[in-house]
Amino acid sequence: MKKAFKGSRALAIIAAAVIAATAFITGSIGGTLAAPATATLQQMYGTLAENTGGYEAVKARISGNTLTIDLYVNFTGAHKTKIGDQTYAALAKKGFRLWAGAYAGSQWDFKPGMRFTVKMNIYDIYNGAGRKPGQNYIDFVCKTSLGRGYVFQGVGYYNRELMGTYQGAIPDKSYPCGSIVMYNGVSRRYTANQYAKTAAHELGHVLGLGDLYGKGVAATKECPGGTKYEKGDIMGAHGHVTANNIEMFLEAYRTNRYQAYVNSGLPEVKSAVIRSY
Ligand SMILES: [Zn+2]
Repeated sequence: MKKAFKGSRALAIIAAAVIAATAFITGSIGGTLAAPATATLQQMYGTLAENTGGYEAVKARISGNTLTIDLYVNFTGAHKTKIGDQTYAALAKKGFRLWAGAYAGSQWDFKPGMRFTVKMNIYDIYNGAGRKPGQNYIDFVCKTSLGRGYVFQGVGYYNRELMGTYQGAIPDKSYPCGSIVMYNGVSRRYTANQYAKTAAHELGHVLGLGDLYGKGVAATKECPGGTKYEKGDIMGAHGHVTANNIEMFLEAYRTNRYQAYVNSGLPEVKSAVIRSY
């Protein structure tokens, strides 16, 4: 696993260098060079079978051009409280499923011309009932009060193997590593849609991604459409899940490392799969 990580990182660096050289020669990225041959997701990443011990709260597998994510989640707290006619738990699951869908590669993410699908399977239990022996679950802690939701793992730290256990990077054992602590609004109550979007954003942290907002990265080309990365991305101000988010997840999954948008004084290291800045 470590060896594979070093190899893939080196490849990413080589790929970045090639893009830079191409840009220099043609004067513009994309230029007139023939597009690289398309590859399937499986040809690029393998099946991911070697990246799981079988017990993690987040498991993923690839077959052809389909990435399937299995998420094991234990809802606790006020999960039956409703916004409109939907419970917090139902809205959270709706948010998690925003990561599923059809994606396209580009010069910034995966490969130009490729298309793939992400499926999201949610294995949900409530207050620990029906927990599968030997299976880790992240906790989703539902609060009815106002506050800023967060994931219980320090910024810059990530360890998928420890998620759902009390052996995470934070010595504070209020919640197991990787727990999502969810409030019902920051300064005023969430609408149903805002609750779901916020749950999708917090899941991004569970999948290994850092925050995009507040990092000074307001505009980049890695977001479809170009210039509103921060607002258009789920890790920014609750936009959409992008191909770049999926690419960062795969990097986190294979390396078991936190993927940040910029290097910062916090132990955050910019993801190797961000290529446009
Ligand atoms: Zn966040």
